[in-house]
Amino acid sequence: MEQSRPRRSKKAKVTARGGQDKVCVVCSAEQKNQSEKFRVCSGCKDKLGIRRYFCSRACQRTDWKTHRDVCGSMDFWDYPHTPLLDAPADFARSAALRSQIALIGASPEVLYTVAPTTDDALRLEIKDKMLNVSFRRVRDKAFTTCDPKSIAILAQTLVGAVEAQALDPDARVENVYKQLEDEYGFPGTDIAAVVAELEPGALERLHQEDMARHPSGFWKALARPID
Ligand SMILES: [Zn+2]
Ligand SMILES: [Zn+2]
Repeated sequence: MEQSRPRRSKKAKVTARGGQDKVCVVCSAEQKNQSEKFRVCSGCKDKLGIRRYFCSRACQRTDWKTHRDVCGSMDFWDYPHTPLLDAPADFARSAALRSQIALIGASPEVLYTVAPTTDDALRLEIKDKMLNVSFRRVRDKAFTTCDPKSIAILAQTLVGAVEAQALDPDARVENVYKQLEDEYGFPGTDIAAVVAELEPGALERLHQEDMARHPSGFWKALARPID
C-alpha cells in the first residue's frame, strides 16, 4: 500500500514480499537465475499488465488448454475504476460521502482520502493490482449499500494507513472514525467498536478469498503475500 500526502511528498511504501520471483503457473518451477528464460503470457501482459510465467513451452501449451478462455480477461477483476455519483445507492448519501466520491471521480488512483479538507489529507493508493480491486469492491459496496461490515473493513484499512504514517496517530485515528460516521451517516455509532470486532487484516483475508474464487487458479498462481 502506498499513501501520499499533498504538499509533503512523503510516501510510506509497503510492497508485496518476494517481489519479482518468477514461478511457472503450471508446474511451480522457480526461475533460478536471470539467464534462465521464462515465458510470459503475452495476452495477459498486454491487456492486463500482469505477468503469467511459464518455465517452458510445454507448460505454456498445457496451460493454454484452459487458460485460453480467460486469457486477457479481467473477469471480475475488470472492476470499474470510478464509482460515479449517479451509481444507484440504496440509502441517501451524505454530503460528506458525495464529496468523497467526487474526489475519487477526479483522481481514480486515489482510493480514499482521509481528512480531505485538511493539509494533512492522506490519499490511499494501492499499487498491487489485485489487492486494489479487492479494496474497491469493499469500498464500493459501502458506497452503494452502506453495508456495516464493508465500512468496518474500510475503517480498519484506513486506520492502518494512518497509523503507518505515525504522526500523532491517536488523534488522527479518532478522526478517521468521525469522518466515516459523517460519510455514512451513523452519528453516535461507534465505528471503532465495530472495527474492534473484526479480525486484523480483514481486507487481506477477503482478498485471499477473491483470489481463490477465480477460475483455473489464474490469479492464485500470481498471488503474492501481502505485508
Ligand atoms: Zn513449468
Ligand atoms: Zn493469458
